Amino acid sequence: MEKLLCGVDLGGTKLSVGLVKTDGVLIDRIVVYDHISKGEEDMIGQISDLINELLLRNKIKDDNLLGIGVGFAGHLRIKQGIVITTSNFKGFKLKNFPIRDAIKEHFKSKMEVIVDNDANAQAYSEYRFGSGVGYDSMIFLTISTGIGAGIILDGRIYHGMTGTAGEFGHTIVDPHSDIQCGCGNYGCLMSCAGGLSLPQIVKKKLKKGMKTKLQIDRSSNLEAVDGKMIKQGLDLDDELCKEVVLECADYIGIGIYNLFQIFNPPAITLGGGLMYWGDLYFKRIKEKFYTLARDMLYDKIDISLTKLGGDAGLIGAAALLLEKR
Ligand SMILES: [Zn+2]
Repeated sequence: MEKLLCGVDLGGTKLSVGLVKTDGVLIDRIVVYDHISKGEEDMIGQISDLINELLLRNKIKDDNLLGIGVGFAGHLRIKQGIVITTSNFKGFKLKNFPIRDAIKEHFKSKMEVIVDNDANAQAYSEYRFGSGVGYDSMIFLTISTGIGAGIILDGRIYHGMTGTAGEFGHTIVDPHSDIQCGCGNYGCLMSCAGGLSLPQIVKKKLKKGMKTKLQIDRSSNLEAVDGKMIKQGLDLDDELCKEVVLECADYIGIGIYNLFQIFNPPAITLGGGLMYWGDLYFKRIKEKFYTLARDMLYDKIDISLTKLGGDAGLIGAAALLLEKR
């Protein structure tokens, strides 16, 4: 029987576990949302139970698995398979937690378990099965509540010294910004153009006297303002929303330009929740990039949208097992 991959996409909101073929086709998956109501050990137990449930209902023995790949939303010591820290799990702190060995304990000793950052896992699935096919190197950007990158160099994920390379959202694009990032710095790309900062960006524009068709409570902190609301505004041809989208796009364009100068990658793929802002956003990102890169661009760079849908994280986690480490 053909060997299969098991993927685990472990995020702060959603836990998905799936069986994936080596060509990237997802066979079956289970998604749960109650994993963060447990402690660390119980959550690991839940992951193991879900994997066993999947194997059972697909009549597959664990000997038929090439291994278990885990995409985790946080900082990791890659070689040791240890979570350094994460800000994405509200219920509990996964600090210095040996996640790889904790999962391994639930299975036979020869079961391979690989843990990597979720943006890296998504980047790798894009490289193997999506917009990155045909390229030796590429960079995947996820633009959502937060912003992150996965860097593939010559077919391998670039991890850096510890394993935290690709924290693109914390690169500083505006040192004079007054919006503070969750990391403590001001002017991080994430705080200038990430979903989490939208309330503050909108607030600043309202203060300047901009009008909006959005139904928002101006006396509040505008917590309700999110990417979806801005999209609704775009559909209403709302000036304020358009300006927010173009401003965020310019910052992403600057970020991409910086990546281009450092890595000279042949391809950059964009994914994540904010990409549903659509053409206005994506076009402006590219325009900003090309304006900055000008005649320093000697060959075509392929800036594209993700070809993989909502399961990219899960498929990517499984695909980690295919990377030559
Ligand atoms: Zn930051």
